[in-house]
Amino acid sequence: MSMAALSRRPRLAASQLRSQITAMTDQSTTTDNPLLENWTGPFGVPPFERITPEHFIPAYERAFTEHDAEIAAIAGEAAEPTFQNTIEAMERTGRTLDRVGRVFGVLSGAHTNDALLGVEREISPREARHWNGILLNEPLFRRIDTLWQRRDTLALNAEQARVLERYHLMFKRAGAALDAESRQRLAEINERLATLGTTFSQNVLADEQGYALVLESEDDLAGLPGFVRQAARAAATERSLAGKHVITLSRSSVEPFLQFSARRDLREKIFRAWIARGDGGGKTDNKAIIAEILALRAERARLLGYESFSHYKLDDAMAKTPQAVRDLLERVWKPARSRALVDRDAMQGLIQEEGGNFKLAPWDWRYYAEKLRKRQCDIDESEVKPYLQLHHIVEAAFYTAYKLFGLSFERRRDIAGWHPDVEVWEVRDADGKHRGLFFGDYFARSSKHSGAWMTALRDQERLTGDIHPLIVNVTNFSKGGASEPTLLSFDDARTLFHEFGHALHGLLSDVTYPMVAGTSVLTDWVELPSQLYEHWLERPEILSRFAVHSHTGRPIPDDLMRRLIAARTFNQGFATVEYVACALVDLDLHLLPSAEHFDVNAFEEKALARIGMPAEIVMRHRPTQFAHLFSGGSYASAYYSYMWSEVLDADAFAAFEETGNIFDSKTAKSLHDNVYAAGGARDPEALYKAFRGRLPTPDALLKRRGLAAVPS
Ligand SMILES: [Zn+2]
Repeated sequence: MSMAALSRRPRLAASQLRSQITAMTDQSTTTDNPLLENWTGPFGVPPFERITPEHFIPAYERAFTEHDAEIAAIAGEAAEPTFQNTIEAMERTGRTLDRVGRVFGVLSGAHTNDALLGVEREISPREARHWNGILLNEPLFRRIDTLWQRRDTLALNAEQARVLERYHLMFKRAGAALDAESRQRLAEINERLATLGTTFSQNVLADEQGYALVLESEDDLAGLPGFVRQAARAAATERSLAGKHVITLSRSSVEPFLQFSARRDLREKIFRAWIARGDGGGKTDNKAIIAEILALRAERARLLGYESFSHYKLDDAMAKTPQAVRDLLERVWKPARSRALVDRDAMQGLIQEEGGNFKLAPWDWRYYAEKLRKRQCDIDESEVKPYLQLHHIVEAAFYTAYKLFGLSFERRRDIAGWHPDVEVWEVRDADGKHRGLFFGDYFARSSKHSGAWMTALRDQERLTGDIHPLIVNVTNFSKGGASEPTLLSFDDARTLFHEFGHALHGLLSDVTYPMVAGTSVLTDWVELPSQLYEHWLERPEILSRFAVHSHTGRPIPDDLMRRLIAARTFNQGFATVEYVACALVDLDLHLLPSAEHFDVNAFEEKALARIGMPAEIVMRHRPTQFAHLFSGGSYASAYYSYMWSEVLDADAFAAFEETGNIFDSKTAKSLHDNVYAAGGARDPEALYKAFRGRLPTPDALLKRRGLAAVPS
């Protein structure tokens, strides 16, 4: 039984359209359903080329029935509960559901269509109902609880003890220990939340798909460098507007436009569309959905005996309390805000210098920041970009994994993914032994949700055999033109390293039980392996080797590289402010005791006013498009996790720097054993102490963001 599904974009969960789906169900019998076959191809990869949307509902139905029967057998077992007949038995259940759900998760996130969106609306409440039936199963919980009471007498090894603890906590936090009436209400709440989460993310996707800024004339293209034009031509072709230029609401399309377009009117136009996703007032508006989600989460927390959803959520996190989260965020907020205001004033100065007679607005920030960067750091993004070719940066990520952990990667063109753009590599360890497969799905397309994430088609484990993982990275990079390589911004390259760090957490996992495999860890620990990995990208050891000019083939000049690395802290006031504002608003939203007659836009405005949000910056994700919080919700009251993990990653990378070698083998071995391979098999604080010998402080983080010397 595995509920693991980590991603930067949390797993989708939601509802209607039942009749249409039922009609589909009738056409398909389970005997010719590839989702229900044994996947006998290389490494047991799902046969994507034969899977079609109508296979999912019957496969899910079979999987639910099978899982229910397995659970009933465990709950009804006559023998006294033992670790083997209860916990291990649970770990073996739900295999079909796991397989079907993971394939569906990959397709619905990375390559969806109307039929799959329909399946998603149909399945998500049913899946929620299915899990309610298990997590609120009283006889089953009694068996787990009995084992928990007797845990000291069971002679469990450390991993088994942790697995038992996680099961007990999972059931308790789901409400298994409550009375029948409360359990019933919790079940209703969970089912409704699943539907709402799906609707939320489908609304954002619809708003993104429904918008294109078409640039008609050379005038409209003013200021755009070649790579932005090229990506805009590719986006136009993808939308059947060949020959034109299109800017979409995908971050990798809109951000470069805001950075370079000299057309202030067009910058304003697309910026307004971008931040209005889910807030348009029509069919795809998310405001009422947010109000209902918050009310239901608050009610659930109350039923479970917590003051607020935040208190409930953080009780099972490293942070433990809302106050601990607020303390960290506020410590960072003040210097970040001061830094941002200094930059703002410098940009206003630039506007005046150019004879501009206007006040810097949010759609101007990236444009003038780019100019300021050129002046202060002598760095021009369009000068750097030709050196950051997608496939060289992929190689750089592989090379880093080789230097640290001895991994090697071999392209497998014989293995197909879910779209022709998907690339597959076989991963081997230092002894040449097969370790798993890595799937890279890098390019933006309209069938893909925005953002970047890691997920798994299969987790590593040893309970049911020597099971090797199938790990997936999805990003939204703008594809290069027909015969041109795809070029990344430095931010894109960092995203690639970030998601690859998550991928390694899955690939290097070395545990027995699925419950604690790979990224099945606490939310404020899960960003450590990913954010830590970003540090290597920013080093000369990597850049001088892999940043190679796309036309001349020459490596990046030393001088440019040094300026690039030095510019790393530039505009960090802005980046920190747009992020921390999100984390603080997330916390405030989930501390609400109730959400009756809730107006999320008014709330956002008040919350931002309270912290003194600069008028020229908006939240990185406004609530109506904040999928981390409202689509599935695994980052609800947990968006702070990125910063919590950053305290850890900044401090952890310093362990390498202190040795004078960023690939130091002893440190790498300890990092492997205590972080990347450990999954959730041990307590994260204990893991960190084992790696570093102590717990971290935020000092390294402030220094890394260039905020250490800023007066707060
Ligand atoms: Zn991440």
